[in-house]
Amino acid sequence: MTDRRDELAGNLAKVEERITAACVAAGRKREEVTLIVVTKTYPASDVRVLSELGVRHVAENRDQDAAPKAAECSDLPLVWHFVGQLQTNKVRSVVGYADLVQSVDRSRLVTALSKEAVRAGREVGCLLQVALDAGESARGERGGVAPGGIEELADLVAEAPGLRLDGLMTVAPLTGEYAGRQRVAFERLMDLSTDLRRAHPAANMVSAGMSADLEEAVAAGATHVRVGTAVLGVRPGLG
Ligand SMILES: *Cc1c(COP(=O)(O)O)cnc(C)c1O
Repeated sequence: MTDRRDELAGNLAKVEERITAACVAAGRKREEVTLIVVTKTYPASDVRVLSELGVRHVAENRDQDAAPKAAECSDLPLVWHFVGQLQTNKVRSVVGYADLVQSVDRSRLVTALSKEAVRAGREVGCLLQVALDAGESARGERGGVAPGGIEELADLVAEAPGLRLDGLMTVAPLTGEYAGRQRVAFERLMDLSTDLRRAHPAANMVSAGMSADLEEAVAAGATHVRVGTAVLGVRPGLG
């Protein structure tokens, strides 16, 4: 465990250096960017060590893994983000531990989240996941609402009891016009965020960038980066 602690501390320090360097390069303050550590596939013991090392935001993408982990770590001062594609039959469970859901991408999900948030007496922060590789009205292959659908979905979240509209999230597309062009993709997300904030000024979170492209996200103006591999190591198998 001590070895693992040293490993995580070392990795965190390197990621911290990268974020700081990216902020300096972009002329931004370090406090403008929040690190979210994506702990998916890794055990609750790692989450506990990360918390001891000062991490305050963690993210998970599968309810089956996340629910027991969050329960084991419920004594820790952590903010839990849900970042995976979410089926409506998992919403009740997710609302039990997630402070924010970053993968809101359709009206049925908004309805289900609202119902369960009210039932649980919780307020759930919502980020709309934007599919930059989708057509103007379709949804993306890995989830996400197309840019043309943001406004309508945002209004729906803003009016839904138990939900709070916090901003936008994206994953850099692997296909389409933005493939391999993370900086351009993240700048597009920032433009969409600017549009969103005209009607919803408080929805100012912009979640973009992972282990491989956090610098591009910080340069484009992201407020939150989601880093897994660079902190915890390469995940075995799919995740
Ligand atoms: C796994 C995951 C991440 C982290 O990816 P890494 O490349 O491991 O840093 C970020 N965002 C989402 C939505 C993820 O599923």
